[in-house]
Amino acid sequence: MYPSSQKRILVTGGAGFLGSHLCDRFTAEGHDVICLDNFFTGAKRNITHLLGKPNFELLRHDLVQPIFLEVDDIYNLACPASPFYYQYNPVKTIKTCVMGAINMLGLAKRVKARILQASTSEIYGNPNVHPQKEDYWGNVNTIGPRSCYDEGKRCAETLFFDYHRQNRVNIRVARIFNTYGPRVHPDDGRVISTFIVQALKNRDITVFGEGTQTRSFCYVDDMIEGLVKMMNSPDDFIGPVNLGNPIEFRILDLARVIIRLTGSKSRIVFEPLPVDDPLQRQPDITLAKQRLGWQPYTDLESGLKKTIEYFRDIIQVPNP
Ligand code: NAD
Ligand code: UDP
Repeated sequence: MYPSSQKRILVTGGAGFLGSHLCDRFTAEGHDVICLDNFFTGAKRNITHLLGKPNFELLRHDLVQPIFLEVDDIYNLACPASPFYYQYNPVKTIKTCVMGAINMLGLAKRVKARILQASTSEIYGNPNVHPQKEDYWGNVNTIGPRSCYDEGKRCAETLFFDYHRQNRVNIRVARIFNTYGPRVHPDDGRVISTFIVQALKNRDITVFGEGTQTRSFCYVDDMIEGLVKMMNSPDDFIGPVNLGNPIEFRILDLARVIIRLTGSKSRIVFEPLPVDDPLQRQPDITLAKQRLGWQPYTDLESGLKKTIEYFRDIIQVPNP
């Protein structure tokens, strides 16, 4: 358990994949939870089970607009995370990253709340340092199709540190690497959800490029634990800190594992690699281990099995 007293906790993006798991946890712990979401990529089904609880409140609100609330902790997660959705309306993505950060930092400043930013491994861009440590400044294209997200998230980090230096806002910054698990949106184009849905429907599995690009996949339960630990870290450790699973996989190998675990008849097909798709990504989590005593424990196959069961259920594909 973390500091035992009941807190008022705001989760922006609380109806999304990660946000809804945070809402579950804080509601179960007895905190007063406000879930704020505009439902761009979030889903009511992620939080329906919480709606009747006296310590859970849902606010439909767009973070680009200011909001006045009284809270103790703010987890700032509102932002589409999948390339398909964040490129759908790139100007809106930047506004959410930047104006959303300003609005939440202003709120934190006014009510003296602690605020955690869900930053991302994308701030490292297509990295030429491997694995990525927190002191690596990144290799990011400022004008490409991914820039709205990458630069938006970089600017949000800058805002967090400026509000900290200028206004003494009590910040935490966590750089999240690819995370998966139940409640990832089935159609959001992220690789694990896409491959699982394709495999369950026996459709072609679309590997982009030759599939030699790598990612390191963290299961949601491990990530939630890391985010909560980071929020509750001592005030002399504000980040940025990498949170992710350091075990790296080639995308082609991921496709093969998912075909095996689902017993699918799908074929693997190759499609062009999207522009600016990072070729490799692996977190160095030494800092998180040392300062938070955190590391992921769920191996890919165990996490995939739970995720496959979730997708089988929501897209209604029976067990073979
Ligand atoms: P998600 O798309 O499932 O959740 C994002 C939520 O934010 C959704 O519910 C969406 O409706 C909401 N939202 C978007 N724009 C909003 C706005 N303007 N106002 C209010 N709500 C808004 O994504 P996720 O995977 O849960 O990611 C959550 C956060 O973690 C994001 O900030 C993302 O950048 C970060 N992150 C996630 C990953 C990952 O692998 N899942 C990796 C790195 C960073
Ligand atoms: N990818 C793929 N086929 C798909 C979707 C994604 O091969 O149908 C690849 C994508 O090109 C990238 C990796 O999987 O190299 C991870 O993509 P995702 O969108 O999940 O996350 P991100 O690129 O933001 O890490």
